Amino acid sequence: MRSVEDHIKHVLLGIAPLEPLVLPLQETLGCVLAEDVFAPWPLPSFDNSSMDGYAVISADVASATEVSPVSLDVIDDVAAGSRANVRVLPGTAVRIMTGAPMPDGADSVVPVEGTDGGTDNVLISRRVDAGAYIRRAGEDIVAGDRVQSAGDVIGPRQVAVLAAVGRGEVKVRPRPRVVVVSTGDELVEPGTAIRHGQVVDSNGVMLAMAAQAAGAEAFRSGPVADDEQRFMGAIEDQLIRADLVITSGGVSMGAYDTVKAALSKVGTVEFTKVAMQPGMPQGFGRLGPENTPIFTLPGNPVSSYISFELFVRPVIRRMLGQTELHRPTVRATCEQGFDSPSGKTQFMRAQLRVDSGRYVVIPIGGHGSHVLGGLSQSNALIVVPADVTRISDNDPVTVIDLGGAG
Ligand code: AMP
Ligand code: MG
Repeated sequence: MRSVEDHIKHVLLGIAPLEPLVLPLQETLGCVLAEDVFAPWPLPSFDNSSMDGYAVISADVASATEVSPVSLDVIDDVAAGSRANVRVLPGTAVRIMTGAPMPDGADSVVPVEGTDGGTDNVLISRRVDAGAYIRRAGEDIVAGDRVQSAGDVIGPRQVAVLAAVGRGEVKVRPRPRVVVVSTGDELVEPGTAIRHGQVVDSNGVMLAMAAQAAGAEAFRSGPVADDEQRFMGAIEDQLIRADLVITSGGVSMGAYDTVKAALSKVGTVEFTKVAMQPGMPQGFGRLGPENTPIFTLPGNPVSSYISFELFVRPVIRRMLGQTELHRPTVRATCEQGFDSPSGKTQFMRAQLRVDSGRYVVIPIGGHGSHVLGGLSQSNALIVVPADVTRISDNDPVTVIDLGGAG
């Protein structure tokens, strides 16, 4: 039996980031940049007002106080997006809005709160220093600055600066296209009424969504019957659009374990027992003219999910060009003891929370690898090493944090 760590290493062998592609900004959430991006112009690109108020010459208002305001002629108005047509000369002011370009001649802005708000004539009741309330060109970013680097991950905060320096598209590692194929005669599409003996194909949507959450573009083929020819047909159809294929079901020792039977003949997919609970039978290999990686995950939903988390997600992350391949782990106090099999690493569904500044975890859902209710309430996996057979109440444990939505 192969250890979990060895199987992770094995599936990552030969997996490389996908070739870069130029994509519109809005399609790049979670993508990794494949170029350095430089600012062709400074940010802000022009001196502008940081307040609604009056652009003035500071020397003109040096004596202004509430009891003895200074009167200035208002000679123009300037809003964001427009320009003043006049020059501010001694004794005059231009009414200015936040973000509007500073008019020539003025060296400061008096906020509207320090004035009577006049439109022909304004009474200024407060002095300002030269430079007050002006956002200077280049104070944020200087022309030629590198604003993002190859390898950076794009999110809302990063895309803003890319747009601000003039980019509409950027070169990124694209999302891997992941195809999920569920197998089993008993399976029906979600939303379909079930007859006795039928099971809804919950793995299909679960795995497709897990792939999306990992950063992939996911496709799903409807459940495929336990028939070798139909299964191979479905796989061949899907290979055309896939960077990665995931199947679920049909890999145990049963009489109708189609996936294992069909792919064993191809010779490029290896079926292995991994020393873990749940999710022992794991298959991985390459298929088709482009040597597309394929994972054959067990059918039991919990096994399928945990296998995805441990083995498939890191492969998707590497294809994306991410360097953080694995979920973060934390040390937590386990509030409730449980038994663990000898010789296998156990991944126990659990609820992780912070209590008085410390991580606390409680197992849920029991051992059954079919227990979907427990899975839906979990946000973490307790990792019990192969040589540990009992976790007692309040033992410290290592926990994989599965995060909120993903
Ligand atoms: P298998 O690995 O095909 O032997 O399936 C093991 C168990 O998982 C059986 O109880 C199946 O009904 C169930 N199962 C297999 N595939 C799925 C699926 N796509 N969605 C939900 N349950 C499944
Ligand atoms: Mg089956």
